Amino acid sequence: MERLQNFIDGAYCDPVKGQYIDNYEPASGKVYSQIPNSTEEDVELAVAAAEKAFPIWSSMSTTERSAIMVKLSEGIQARMDEFVQAESRDNGKPLSLAAHVDIPRAVSNFHFFATAIVHYASESHNMEGVGVNYTLRKPIGIVGCISPWNLPLYLFSWKIAPALAAGNCVVAKPSEITPYTSYLLGKVAKEAGMPDGVLNILHGEGKFAGDAIVKHPKIKAISFTGGTATGEYIARTAAPMFKKLSLELGGKNPNIIFADCDFKEMLSTTLRSSFANQGQICLCGSRIFVERSIYDKFKEEFVKRVDGTVVAHPNNPEAKLGAVVSKPHMEKVLSYVKLAKEEGGTVLSGGERVIVEGYEDGYYLRPTVIEGLSYDCRTNQEEIFGPVVTITPFDTEEEALMMANSTKYGLSATLWTSNLKRAHRIANELDAGIVWINSWLVRDLRTPFGGMKASGVGREGGWEALRFFTEPKNVFVKY
Ligand code: NDP
Repeated sequence: MERLQNFIDGAYCDPVKGQYIDNYEPASGKVYSQIPNSTEEDVELAVAAAEKAFPIWSSMSTTERSAIMVKLSEGIQARMDEFVQAESRDNGKPLSLAAHVDIPRAVSNFHFFATAIVHYASESHNMEGVGVNYTLRKPIGIVGCISPWNLPLYLFSWKIAPALAAGNCVVAKPSEITPYTSYLLGKVAKEAGMPDGVLNILHGEGKFAGDAIVKHPKIKAISFTGGTATGEYIARTAAPMFKKLSLELGGKNPNIIFADCDFKEMLSTTLRSSFANQGQICLCGSRIFVERSIYDKFKEEFVKRVDGTVVAHPNNPEAKLGAVVSKPHMEKVLSYVKLAKEEGGTVLSGGERVIVEGYEDGYYLRPTVIEGLSYDCRTNQEEIFGPVVTITPFDTEEEALMMANSTKYGLSATLWTSNLKRAHRIANELDAGIVWINSWLVRDLRTPFGGMKASGVGREGGWEALRFFTEPKNVFVKY
C-alpha cells in the first residue's frame, strides 16, 4: 500500500518516529494509503529547514519570488488530472467538482498572490513641515498554516500562497483526512525552483503535529482554518506566546429568500448553496428562511429538485453529490437528523444513508431538507457541516434578520430579493463577514474573506492576507 511522506527541506522523508495512520477512501470506505503520523520531532526538522531558508527567500527580490510561484501555479495546472483524481479520491467529492472548483482555484490562489506581491506597496504619511513616516512591511519569518479537509488543496494554498509571496517560510499541515494533494504539492514546488526549506509540508494528526506547530516558539504566526472548538484551543495556546493569529472557523449561514426574487435562479443556486461538496463548505447556506407568501411554492419545488438529486460514486459523471468525508462525519450528520426529529422537525427529503452498488461501505448520504423547527433549537444553532438544510417561513424583514443573526456564528449570508433598498439595508445589518446578494460563492480573490463572532478572527484574501503575513514597521524621518 502506498505510504505518503513528509516534505521537509526540499525532500520527501519518513516521519522520525516511523508511525503511520490509515487514509480512507470515502467513496468505498476502504483504506487506500498510509500517511505519516508526524510528531514534534518532525516539526522540529521542518522549523530548522525553514530557519535556514528564511534569509535566502526573504532577501530574494519580489519579482524572483513571484516567478517561482507562477511556475508553481503552472506546475499544478500541468498536472491538473493527477490533482483532480487525487482530491476526489481523498475527499469523496465528485470528480467534476474537483475539476471545476478545487484544483483550478488552487492554481488561481498561487497565481494571484504571485502577481499581487509585485504590486504590493507600503504606505507613507507626510506631516507637513515636520517630516515623513513610511511603513516597512517585512516578512514575519516562519509561519504555520493548518487547513481542513473540505476543500483540501484550495484552502491549503489560500494560506500558503500569501505566506510565501510575502517572503515567509512555511511549516504547513493539511488535514489528516485529506493529505494527498498537499503531498503532491512538494514535488511541484521543487520543480518550480522553490529553494529547499521554504515550504515544508507535514502530515498527521492535529493533536500531535498540529499542536506542535502551534506551540513551537520559532513559528511566529498561525493561519488556521477549521472548526471553532479547535480554533479556540489554538487561540488559547498561542496567545501567551504573542503569536499573530488568523482564524477561519465554522459557520451556520442563513439564506434569506424574499417573494420578489428571481425564483428560478434562486432555486437552482439554493440547491448548490445547500448541497455543493455534500454541504461541506463553510459557506453553504444551511438555514433557509423563506417569505411566507412563497413558502409552500418554494417547499414543493425545492423538495422535488432535492428528491431528484443524484448521489453516486464521485467518478460517475451524473453525481451531484459524492460521499461525505469520513465515517465519523457521516455518523455525526445522521445524529443531527435524529436530533432534528426529536426537536419536532419533519424530514421532507432525505435523512438517510445511500447504499451505492459496488461501494456498499462508502459514506453516502441523501441531501436532506427539514421543516417545522424553531429558529433557536440546536439543529438551527449548531454547525452540522453536511448535506442538511432546514427551511423556515418568515413574515417580516425584521423577523428574518433576527433569526438570521441568532447564532453564535457570523461567516456568510445569502439574500434573494429584487428590492435594491432592502438588499443594501439587510446586508448592512447581517452578522456576516461575507454577504451574497442574488448569488452564492462568487469569489474575487482581492476581497476580505472571513467571519465575525465565533466564525473567526481576522480576514484572508488580497491585501488583508499580505498584511497578516507581514510585520509593519513605521519609520519617521525629520525634514
Ligand atoms: P478541525 O478543526 O477538526 O481541523 C482543522 C485542522 O486543524 C486539521 O488540519 C486538523 O488536523 C488540525 N487540528 C486539529 N486539532 C488541532 C490542534 N489541537 N492543534 C493544531 N491543529 C489541530 O476542522 P475540520 O478539518 O473538521 O474542518 C471542518 C471545519 O472547518 C468546519 O467547522 C468548517 O466550518 C471549518 N471551515 C471554515 C472555513 C472558513 O473559511 N471559515 C472554511 C472551511 C472549513 P487533523 O484533521 O489531522 O486532526
